[in-house]
Amino acid sequence: MYPDSALRKLLESFDGEVILPEDAAYESARRVWNRRVDRKPAAIARCHTRADAVAALAVARDAGLEVAVRGGGHSFPGFSTTDGGLVLDLGPMKRIVIDLLERTAKVGPGVRWGELTAAAAGYGLAPVGGHVADVGVAGLTLGGGNGWLARMYGLACDNLVAADVLTASGEIVRASAAENPDLYWGLRGGGGNLGIVLEFTLRLHPVADLLGGMLMYRLEDARDVLRHVADYGQKAPDEVNVAPAILAAPPAPFVPEELHGKPVLALAVCYVGAGGVPELAPLREFRKPLADLVGPTTFEVLQHFFDAQAAPTPYRMRAHLGGPITDELIDTILDHGARPSSPGNLILLLPMGGATAAVAPDATAFHHRDAAYCLEIAASWPETDEDPRRHIDWADTLWSATLPWSTGAEINHLADEGRDGIRRAYGGNYARLAELKRKWDPANLFHLNQNVPPAG
Ligand SMILES: Cc1cc2nc3c(=O)[nH]c(=O)nc-3n(C[C@H](O)[C@H](O)[C@H](O)COP(=O)(O)OP(=O)(O)OC[C@H]3O[C@@H](n4cnc5c(N)ncnc54)[C@H](O)[C@@H]3O)c2cc1C
Repeated sequence: MYPDSALRKLLESFDGEVILPEDAAYESARRVWNRRVDRKPAAIARCHTRADAVAALAVARDAGLEVAVRGGGHSFPGFSTTDGGLVLDLGPMKRIVIDLLERTAKVGPGVRWGELTAAAAGYGLAPVGGHVADVGVAGLTLGGGNGWLARMYGLACDNLVAADVLTASGEIVRASAAENPDLYWGLRGGGGNLGIVLEFTLRLHPVADLLGGMLMYRLEDARDVLRHVADYGQKAPDEVNVAPAILAAPPAPFVPEELHGKPVLALAVCYVGAGGVPELAPLREFRKPLADLVGPTTFEVLQHFFDAQAAPTPYRMRAHLGGPITDELIDTILDHGARPSSPGNLILLLPMGGATAAVAPDATAFHHRDAAYCLEIAASWPETDEDPRRHIDWADTLWSATLPWSTGAEINHLADEGRDGIRRAYGGNYARLAELKRKWDPANLFHLNQNVPPAG
């Protein structure tokens, strides 16, 4: 069957929308968050129901169309779109059902973290998501998922209780500790390799008191402050989450005008529970900041904290997992951070440790449990920029310069780095994932991801 007739067949059986290149909606429907990615699928199947997803997958498989699966569309390398294939856009599948007794949420694959957080907040509960409201629950959870609450409650994947999975053969199976435990193991960090998740059951946590916000410092003070954070971070309890970032100062009233758009050091700070004021005092009192915006807040507010930095844009993300912050690392990132290629660039150290380290490296597919930080090196620039190469080089140069500090990688922040990057991320879990891939997706139908081909 030719793709054209396959798509016609899909149109006949579909509850959702099938968007074709000639449709007015095509141009926006084909785009993903990273505007550097410019692919043209044969069609975008906007699935509203499980039956839609089953039908779209069957048509793609029978017609030999490449399959791209989309949740929130935030994959940095743009894996949720394809040139010439079929996008299964699960964005419309936004059902959320909260079970108060079990403290869990059943979550559709199109739900964004901000939506789940808002639904759970009504019951005094919170999911363990990422740092940004607009990111999809699906991709972030399947890849690991480090967020504001991770040191307290683990990675997002550690909070996955069960999943309903559409497999490459077209069956829907359940994965949990009791059912298909091998698949359950692989979904927690294995990305989209093993199947299409149609529903996630996620653990929720009671989060009442929260102290959070941002401290901002002049770059001249950054070396001393970062050294202090390195020391403080090693001893801090799991309730504390401090993420240092070098970024362009916003044109906000609390920033002196001469610093607008210039690199500064920001500490994104969060304390989960009561007792945050004395616990954060050594941090807040160490050096007078340009601004101290830390105060009582809610998890919903924190989820929107980075909204201004999170709009769709051309982007280059490079990252490492590594140990504690060292003097060498501080010198390298400050030297580079002082010379950004664009005001949109960002160097961020996301803390791990705490509950993320309490899980054994082979207990889930997410391997590098000993990491203390994830170093993110991000360059972003306007779509109209005619010389993106210098921004990409800026990120790649710092990535290479910080390689000596690195102990590994994780797939949510991996660029399209091929086999070496993927093997680095999965470490000792790679062989087991490849075996699972042979069982659940022997033809590698789901290969638009940080791909682990089936064991040969
Ligand atoms: C602005 C921004 C902020 C971020 N913040 C964080 C953060 O705080 N912490 C963190 O850990 N990561 C963060 N990330 C990285 C993020 O976790 C990954 O980009 C993640 O893959 C995004 O998930 P998505 O569903 O939005 O993306 P998509 O692009 O839709 O999907 C990503 C991958 O998952 C697969 N996939 C999607 N849905 C399904 C499904 N239902 N079943 C099977 N496979 C599926 C896709 O095929 C693709 O390979 C951020 C990314 C961005 C752009």
